[in-house]
Amino acid sequence: MEMNKTIFIDRDGVAIEDKGYLDNVEGVELMPGFADALKTFRERGFKLVIITNQSGIGRGKFNAEVVEQQHARITELLKEFRVTIDLFKVCPHAPEDECDCRKPNTLLFEEAGQELLIDFEKSWMIGDKPSDIQAGKQMGCRSILFNGETHCDADFFTENWPDTAQVISILDR
Ligand SMILES: [Mg+2]
Ligand SMILES: [Zn+2]
Repeated sequence: MEMNKTIFIDRDGVAIEDKGYLDNVEGVELMPGFADALKTFRERGFKLVIITNQSGIGRGKFNAEVVEQQHARITELLKEFRVTIDLFKVCPHAPEDECDCRKPNTLLFEEAGQELLIDFEKSWMIGDKPSDIQAGKQMGCRSILFNGETHCDADFFTENWPDTAQVISILDR
């Protein structure tokens, strides 16, 4: 069976600008260089998956529908670059819900793995929080901390998308 290598990407602060509990669609803004990096990953045969903690839903700040609309907006913005995200996975829970899907927990990665037949050892997690890195590492992915605090055990640290794409292009196997 053909297994798929995948780039797992955190949403806020990595795929789009982090505006803190974004509760509308208009505020969705792609990070500079994100779309071009996705094209590079696609050319290398990666699947593209966004995994995001949206505790604003569980905290009652906004509903799941607005998050779906935000993801439709991301898809629309990426259309201009002729690249698509294969899967969006959302944890809607607050931390006190103690769910299995909020990063650093890995349920959403496991679900994505089944849906897309993912080979985690050939895959990467890119996030700006230690919880992103922890989740990716638990799944056996290599990890890149993107524009985050450096006291974290990520494999690599980058500050922008061109550098991130370059690291992966060099080390992809
Ligand atoms: Mg983030
Ligand atoms: Zn959850």
